[in-house]
Amino acid sequence: MIPFYVAGRPATSSDVLTVRHPFDGSVVGETSYASPRDVEEAVAAAAGAARAAAEMSAADRAAALDSVSRRLARRTGEIAALITAENGKPVKWATAEVNRAVSTFRWAAEEARRFSGDLQRLDTDPAAAGRIALVRRVPRGPVLGIAPFNFPLNLVAHKVAPALAAGAPIIVKPAPATPLTALLLGEILAGLDLPAGMFSVLPVPNDRMAPLVADPRLPVVSFTGSGPVGAQIQAAVPHKHVTLELGGNAAALIAADWDDLDFAAQRIATFANYQAGQSCIAVQRVFVHARHMAAFTPKLVEAVSALRTGDPRDEQVDVGPVIDTRAADRITQWIDEAIAKGGRVLTGGTRSGTTIAPTVLTDVPADAKVCADEVFGPVLVLTAVDSDEAGLTAIDDSAYGLQAGVFTRRLDLAFTAHRHLHVGGVVIGDVPSFRADQMPYGGVKGSGSGREGVASAMEDYTEPRVLVLTGV
Ligand code: NAD
Repeated sequence: MIPFYVAGRPATSSDVLTVRHPFDGSVVGETSYASPRDVEEAVAAAAGAARAAAEMSAADRAAALDSVSRRLARRTGEIAALITAENGKPVKWATAEVNRAVSTFRWAAEEARRFSGDLQRLDTDPAAAGRIALVRRVPRGPVLGIAPFNFPLNLVAHKVAPALAAGAPIIVKPAPATPLTALLLGEILAGLDLPAGMFSVLPVPNDRMAPLVADPRLPVVSFTGSGPVGAQIQAAVPHKHVTLELGGNAAALIAADWDDLDFAAQRIATFANYQAGQSCIAVQRVFVHARHMAAFTPKLVEAVSALRTGDPRDEQVDVGPVIDTRAADRITQWIDEAIAKGGRVLTGGTRSGTTIAPTVLTDVPADAKVCADEVFGPVLVLTAVDSDEAGLTAIDDSAYGLQAGVFTRRLDLAFTAHRHLHVGGVVIGDVPSFRADQMPYGGVKGSGSGREGVASAMEDYTEPRVLVLTGV
């Protein structure tokens, strides 16, 4: 039985959580759910550790983060295999995920070293002559980090690394389908010399989450997951500092000036289908200037058809299963609905168990679920637009707003897209599916509020406290 971590200490319960391989249903491992008593111990310890955590030196915080980075790097193959086993993503993408987490912790060590305050002169007003303000950022308190299944390591790292860097204790609640990678990270953290209570990793059933979310000793809730759950959390604790990283139906536009259709087709084929489309910034809607439609369509269909589906443990496989049968059923129904509304399948549209063939649809009305909602599967919808402006309008015609990609070399179009699209980020010359730890990352509208990225999360986990000095 793989233990969970209560205030850094391994623990188990009799409430078993069995993790199964999404591809064939085989048992990957067993852990257990934390009991209400474990949860109470973790929360009390986190609250008790807040002061010691805040007073850790920058050197100690950076050293701990660098150490996590090195320990992850040493175990890359093992961790990637575990991610593949519990999440079902092909091993090459799982390896990329570990490499990314290695870099996230290393980058967080850098941020820990430079995280500082601000000195402000106040004598711009004669009444404040002789005064200055020292602005220090202090942790708001322990963080509750709730993570989804689709990046079992990275989306936990994006919460743990900034918390350690900012000096905030953190309780991580991994997704029930993919807790084992988070628990392995817990094992690595347990090997460090951190203040007791600095971290816990607790599998908790969804129907027992409400008291944890509401606990006043956890003033920050950092949630990554679906819109309905995010909205429920926000409504339950309106007075808390809540960050919501929610879903999306990311779009790409191929503008009239774009001259490398092969590149665009390859990138879109790859990033509509990586992790079987289960990424919040996977390409879902593709708008193509009408002048390119005839040339681009066969290139895209060829690139998508060339993707190899199958057992994600096979190094050659590009697209593995979706997370479970329920998800596969839903995606299939959405494809059927699009067809019923007049959509045409250009490639894919078939399914074997939990594996959906990479699918390209066209002639789909904008109100079909595969356009209007988050498909979270290997499905993209191709639509021609009469002008670049119409393409930008179509991108924005969405309940979501995470990131958008615009294939253009025109500087004015790049700036127009950046100024006018209601999204958290615009990628020029590529797909929207790009994220780096330096960037503020997050969305607007149904995609959430607040930003991650190491520095942005550190800001979120802390608040400014001013010291006014008189007579200086
Ligand atoms: P989900 O909302 O079902 O679950 C997310 C987490 O919330 C899990 O740990 C789950 O156990 C927990 N949870 C469920 N009910 C809860 C409750 N009532 N109270 C507290 N916690 C609860 O999401 P999922 O299916 O695991 O993940 C997929 C979603 O995550 C997609 O919508 C995807 O777009 C989104 N996502 C967003 C980002 C981003 O950065 N914006 C990144 C990755 C995934």
